[in-house]
Amino acid sequence: MPVIRAPRGTRDRLPEEAAAWARAEAVAADLASRYGFERIETPLFETTELFVRGLGEGSDAVAKEMFRVGGAAGSEEEEPAWALRPEPTAGIVRAYLEHGLHVRPGPLRVWMLGPMFRYDRPQAGRYRQFTQWDVEVIGDPGPAVDAELIELASRFCTQVGLDDASIHLNSIGDAACRPAYRAALTAYFAPHRNALSEDGRRRLDTNPLRMLDDRTLDSGLAAAAPKSIDHLCDACRDHFAGVSGLLDRLGIVYELDHRLVRGLDYYTRTTFELFPPGRTGSQDALAGGGRYDGLVEVLGGPSTAGVGFGLGLDRVVLAMAQRGAPGEPSPALVAVVGTQPSDVAERLLVAGALREAGLRVRPDGSDRKLGRQLEAAAKLGARWAVIVGEELTRGAVVLRDLADGSQREIALDEVSSATRRNADS
Ligand code: AMP
Repeated sequence: MPVIRAPRGTRDRLPEEAAAWARAEAVAADLASRYGFERIETPLFETTELFVRGLGEGSDAVAKEMFRVGGAAGSEEEEPAWALRPEPTAGIVRAYLEHGLHVRPGPLRVWMLGPMFRYDRPQAGRYRQFTQWDVEVIGDPGPAVDAELIELASRFCTQVGLDDASIHLNSIGDAACRPAYRAALTAYFAPHRNALSEDGRRRLDTNPLRMLDDRTLDSGLAAAAPKSIDHLCDACRDHFAGVSGLLDRLGIVYELDHRLVRGLDYYTRTTFELFPPGRTGSQDALAGGGRYDGLVEVLGGPSTAGVGFGLGLDRVVLAMAQRGAPGEPSPALVAVVGTQPSDVAERLLVAGALREAGLRVRPDGSDRKLGRQLEAAAKLGARWAVIVGEELTRGAVVLRDLADGSQREIALDEVSSATRRNADS
């Protein structure tokens, strides 16, 4: 029978990657807590309407990449009412309004970690299911919090061993100044319409800002295009000066990137992305974020500021592996083996006691000879073997150091400290 394969664009996280994932997730949780964020989790699917309204009908996430979810098997609904979440912010803002979080003393600072789904063409670093660490602040107009979030994303990269990630920064204005900028872009690109790709022409008609992050766009044409930074209203210009001034004071190096417009309609003012060294294409970005001061209102709430970022953990883990960055260390493995084929119950009891004492333990449940059990323990990568034998009647076992083959009898309740002491030395 043919072997069944995973769906295209998905990845299995195999045990070899576990230490890097554990490191990335631990750093994310630790930093989120130290920056004063609380955890939130929202469902993996939401009503399609949430994304259509929140992200905009014309956004790629809605127009091209939405993973629609049908109803129950056999249901005859023509238009599935739900979609797997392509990004976290719309769901978080929905929860914020649904549970009345906006009436609490603000601003709300929350984080989330979990899978996102985009029905995109799969390629290296671009999956149909991927994991994001997401950080959002709702109800804080900034600019200090914009700088704080950029610093947080950068600190995360440093702490997982990607300390030379580069930060790209831009401001795309707001409802007051963006219409004029949009018009300037349309006027600039219109005479070149025939030189544009089909996708470029579609972007020109639906969302001219997105012309700039079309990687097929001629680089000369892109470089000479009007820059959003030259079209900001006074309030947006002040905000941007605030963010960049604070980053300077914090010693955070960033690059102005006029082509950084972000894919979703809800962004206003600050946009930023982080890239691993030598990479600048949007499909290489480790993280992307920005301000979304209009989103809460679009989703039916009061006018409320918002800012956040999503950091792609799949790309982070790949970059860590390429860089040889260390993962989360796991404690030394202790194998529990026995001198008698019939002492399996004693091995399980000893394993239980050692786990109770905090050790990482794998008992051998087989009836193999002791020598074979020890060989198997070494192959598994165990650092220690605890040999259960007649000493157990006096509360003792034999502790064998699998690195040098030395062994000695030791009281069972001293095994934990003996193995740790040695691991520390
Ligand atoms: P975005 O909001 O699209 O900028 O996504 C934020 C981050 O999530 C990106 O910088 C990537 O690291 C990651 N990401 C986005 N889309 C994908 C994808 N299809 N596959 C893997 N990672 C992704």
